[in-house]
Amino acid sequence: MSKTYDAIIVGAGIIGCAIAFEMSKSGKKVLCIEKNGAAGSGSTSNSCAIIRTHYSTLYGAALAKSNYYFWENWAEYLEAKKNEELATYREVGCLFTCFEKNQFGYKLEEIANKLDIPYEVWTPNKMKEKLPIINPGHFYPPKKIDDSNFGTKNGDMRYVLFFPKAGYVNDPMFATQNIQSAAERKNAHFIFGSKVTSINKSNGKVSGVSIDNNEKILAPVVVNASGPHSFKINKMAGVTDGMNIKTRALRVEVAHVPSPKDFDFEKGGYICSDDDISGYWRPEVGNRILIGSHENDCDPSEWVDPDNYNNQITEKSRLQAMRGAQRFPKMGIPNNVQGIADLYDVADDWIPIYDKSDLPGFYMAIGTSGNQFKNAPVAGKMMKELIDYVESGNNHDTDPMQYKLPNINFKLDMSYCSRLREINQESSFSVVG
Ligand SMILES: Cc1cc2nc3c(=O)[nH]c(=O)nc-3n(C[C@H](O)[C@H](O)[C@H](O)COP(=O)(O)OP(=O)(O)OC[C@H]3O[C@@H](n4cnc5c(N)ncnc54)[C@H](O)[C@@H]3O)c2cc1C
Repeated sequence: MSKTYDAIIVGAGIIGCAIAFEMSKSGKKVLCIEKNGAAGSGSTSNSCAIIRTHYSTLYGAALAKSNYYFWENWAEYLEAKKNEELATYREVGCLFTCFEKNQFGYKLEEIANKLDIPYEVWTPNKMKEKLPIINPGHFYPPKKIDDSNFGTKNGDMRYVLFFPKAGYVNDPMFATQNIQSAAERKNAHFIFGSKVTSINKSNGKVSGVSIDNNEKILAPVVVNASGPHSFKINKMAGVTDGMNIKTRALRVEVAHVPSPKDFDFEKGGYICSDDDISGYWRPEVGNRILIGSHENDCDPSEWVDPDNYNNQITEKSRLQAMRGAQRFPKMGIPNNVQGIADLYDVADDWIPIYDKSDLPGFYMAIGTSGNQFKNAPVAGKMMKELIDYVESGNNHDTDPMQYKLPNINFKLDMSYCSRLREINQESSFSVVG
């Protein structure tokens, strides 16, 4: 006899676990299937786990603001047990460098004003007062290390925006496992070490999945939350042709560099979306600085097969560290730069897809584009509502669900996250979202 569930979720990353939590809270019998050995061990494990509220679109920022409160009140969100060990959110604040290319951040200010997101404008002097080791120089455009103009500054930035309500989660994999435990307390089931090998159909609807021991598991609802493998699972379900926005896997690196000597970056550092050096940085446990990259015309994008890519760091990490050293000239760069290489699941416009598909019963929470760790709690809630909305007979494609975001007074028209949308030209087309 095949096992039967109300819903199967493919992937136990932070998105799949958050969906499992919400669906099981509502009494559904849910199974989450993960090919690796533990929850959060896919791309979530290497996430920089930055929690911030600035996005290039009003809806993106509203979604992030709604989620912010769950990170601030993590134990409450999880309905955690007394004294349960949990991942922690560290609030340090986030900077955004403003210059010609991003129209001096005017759009972010406009969005922050609309959504009542607090921010300050810092001049170069204020930057130095707050972070004495910073070089507030204007270095754009990004260059290769061997470019004779590398590190040459073109005056100082006029100002940066500072968003105080921002920080990072110390351990993204553990945060995911916190959600897994919360979901299990609501009777969600998890299978680890099993790969979904096919999405099964019957009478034109989804009927469940098969896993790599040939077992068939039945469910009228299947959710693709497989991260960088999302396009492969969509292909298995045969739903790709019915999508206007598609996803693919992008290989990225994050350099881990020691903080400049005599400065406690872990305590006194900030996070920064630093388009001016084509990257982002944040403090890391152990007094290190993490330095990630932004998409740019100087460095080719590495679109890869998620089952066959180089998961070791390369010269790219050194380049990112060197770009970071423009900001922090006293930062020593070791011969062996440490870091990680992992994948983003990138949608064509770097905005996620939280949607149904053309196959009845098959849903997707994908295209997280390097910026949806922070949005997992509300993604879980939205997906649960969306599945209820569609399964009770509504046509989400023609009459999109309007989702009242938790914690803030804002209704999100979910066509923003539709697979059928036109490319959203308001997007930054980068990890900023
Ligand atoms: C380097 C890096 C830095 C980032 N920094 C930030 C940040 O600072 N802030 C932020 O908000 N976001 C950030 N992100 C993005 C964020 O981490 C992701 O959006 C989020 O973790 C994606 O979660 P997921 O559950 O969709 O994917 P994953 O965590 O990848 O989970 C998907 C799971 O599906 C499993 N799977 C795949 N195929 C199958 C199959 N056939 N059968 C069973 N299981 C399968 C995989 O093993 C995997 O565990 C970053 C991402 C990376 C890579």
